Amino acid sequence: MKIMLDAGHGYNTAGKRSIDGMREYEFTRKVAAFASEMLSAYQNVSVYFAHSDSRDVPLQERTNAANRLNVDAYVSIHANAFGTTWNDANGIETYVYTTNHQETYQLAQKVHSNLIALTGLRNRGIKTANFHVLRETKMPAILVECGFMTNRNEAALMRTDAFQRNCARAIVNGLAAQYNLTATQTSPPPSTTPTPLSNSTPPKSGLYKVQAGAFSEKSNADAHLRKLKSDGFEAFVFTDGLYKVQAGAFTERNNAEQLVARLNAKGYQAFIVID
Ligand SMILES: [Zn+2]
Repeated sequence: MKIMLDAGHGYNTAGKRSIDGMREYEFTRKVAAFASEMLSAYQNVSVYFAHSDSRDVPLQERTNAANRLNVDAYVSIHANAFGTTWNDANGIETYVYTTNHQETYQLAQKVHSNLIALTGLRNRGIKTANFHVLRETKMPAILVECGFMTNRNEAALMRTDAFQRNCARAIVNGLAAQYNLTATQTSPPPSTTPTPLSNSTPPKSGLYKVQAGAFSEKSNADAHLRKLKSDGFEAFVFTDGLYKVQAGAFTERNNAEQLVARLNAKGYQAFIVID
């Protein structure tokens, strides 16, 4: 399938800015780049960028390209702002043109729930808006606002590699779940074989852990664990209040990402936890 990623604005187009001067595009282009890299782990996916580092691409040109290429899904990446000084407005929202188009709304739900889970930021919900990129695209199109550039904490997060990657991972997980994307089969060398922590070993820091579910009831976590095992994944349950199902822990992020891709290709909503 063809996916177009649209990093909101350009270096010189007025997007939102953080109070300390970060431009929206500095963040959105990084998320798009990480998402493109992650999507390369799936079969039969072609990624197109609506934006360009070399010039600021007008909105009409972006949507014309998407329609001409006949892409299957369009994801526009943005960051929010409120007012002109640091303030408490915060959280993540996802936009669709209308909630009536089922495929678009389902994609929005999947990306949005992943964004909330992976970033831990406040859920502002899925909203409708008459935005150009949502209205003028002929395929399912969603627009994500990944936090507020006028919120000191969220603006600081946006500068970090980890937050940029989590936003990208959320977009990719949502796309993978909606379109049943299949991870490219890789045969990792022995050193990169998943090494789940045993039940008795407390989690060590510095690892990229793959979480495949979190439940308030232990019986639900156990059922999820059995399903994972029957699908051929090693996993175990630990609790920190919630009963969490962990499917692997890696010293290399790349290996964790490959496991996430394999899990999500099987319909799980796995993601990476760093601690
Ligand atoms: Zn924007």
